[in-house]
Amino acid sequence: MRLRHPPLRPTQQPAPPRQADAAGRPRALILAEFSRFDALRRRLGVDRAHRLVPDLAERAAAIFPEAGIAVAGRNLIELSLDVEGAELAAAVDALRGAATLPQAAEGDSDLFALTIGAVSLAAHDPIGLVEAAEAALASARRGHAPVVASVPLAPADAKLGEELRAAVAGGELFLQYQPKLHLRAQEVTSLEALMRWRHPVRGLVLPGDFIPAAERSGAIKAMTLWTLRQVIEDQSTIAAQGHDLPIFINIAGGLLADASFVDETCAVVEASGARLGFEITETSVIGDPDTAIEHLNRFAGIGVAISIDDYGAGLSSLAYLKQLPARELKIDKLFVTQLSSSHRDPLIVRSTIDLAHALEMEVVAEGVETPTSLALLSVMGCDMVQGFLISRPLSLPALLTYLQTSRHREVMEQSRRPFGRLTAARARA
Ligand code: C2E
Ligand code: CA
Ligand code: CA
Repeated sequence: MRLRHPPLRPTQQPAPPRQADAAGRPRALILAEFSRFDALRRRLGVDRAHRLVPDLAERAAAIFPEAGIAVAGRNLIELSLDVEGAELAAAVDALRGAATLPQAAEGDSDLFALTIGAVSLAAHDPIGLVEAAEAALASARRGHAPVVASVPLAPADAKLGEELRAAVAGGELFLQYQPKLHLRAQEVTSLEALMRWRHPVRGLVLPGDFIPAAERSGAIKAMTLWTLRQVIEDQSTIAAQGHDLPIFINIAGGLLADASFVDETCAVVEASGARLGFEITETSVIGDPDTAIEHLNRFAGIGVAISIDDYGAGLSSLAYLKQLPARELKIDKLFVTQLSSSHRDPLIVRSTIDLAHALEMEVVAEGVETPTSLALLSVMGCDMVQGFLISRPLSLPALLTYLQTSRHREVMEQSRRPFGRLTAARARA
């Protein structure tokens, strides 16, 4: 397999769309290009034509001091700012003026016209924002007029977001813990905290039904800070029973770009002295890699273990992987649940294990449901396993019983049994 290592950022790096904050402010991205660049190049010569976008960027920086501005190509400028509706339309007008006004005296301002695609999203969706702005620019090119769109937060997300903020305050959220079993040590060596919502009417709601809306609405910030404090409290209860286990928390991508979340989290972690890990997906780094990596380094710097979640499921990029201060890589359950029935998945899992080890990371396979998968993973050199076979996510009291009775040993016993079948499996892997 040939692996490409693209640079983390192209030389002419587009301005990363800044992530929506927890207050749910809209985020806008404006893409603008000189409509008649070829004609300008003929008129002005290559050197002056190539100064056009950097000059415009300078003028834009004076007009929009709060904006993230980048020269995204010899012909393209990107602005990211927190506006929507009429303010976005006004920003677009100001940018057009900045491009044409200096030339107005020469009477050829049309030549300096911009094609503009501008979008603001109230929902937190950095990748969706880039896609929408690109689509708006493409549409503007066809229609020869700026395309400006403000997309409000879907009412359902806004409502669920409000309910979730109230759920935090009203004590409706609770955590379950799922053990990670270390194969060589034959011990549970860490736990993952998973959020649940005890809804007053709907009963138990699982994260798949509320985390996405929590992220889009910004409610995830308060929820994650609640989780952090609850985990710290539960960790000391677990430690009091003689089990000194790091606990991993899932951190949504958008929070990695939120400086106030990072500050508060670091303060809470440092004051507690808790042993924590954060599970993040690679996709969460893509929106604004520099900021995300800087924040991950801060977490790592105060002793938080960084784990890459859902590896292989999303937009994986080895370029990012190399730059993250991660100690652990979790292979997505997609590849693990099919391990003994698929021909391709064992190859993927095995090469991922080798890659992670080469990068000095430990590997966790999630979604381990059968003794056969466990045995296969063990042969492949996987360090840790997690899944229904080892344990379902457990409430705190159930977890304490699990740990006290060393229930994982039964699983280790069981997994030795299908060893006869392993020779064939090993040959395939
Ligand atoms: P995840 O981080 O990949 O968590 C693993 C999910 O797989 C959990 O679902 C867990 O119950 C389930 N699982 C564990 N073992 C097995 C298995 O052997 N087979 C199968 N088929 N599934 C297994 P859950 O708890 O419903 O969580 C779903 C997702 O919601 C999580 O995926 C995570 O992305 C998100 N999530 C959960 N809690 C939090 C949280 O506190 N904060 C954030 N930001 N996201 C969370
Ligand atoms: Ca996880
Ligand atoms: Ca996962």
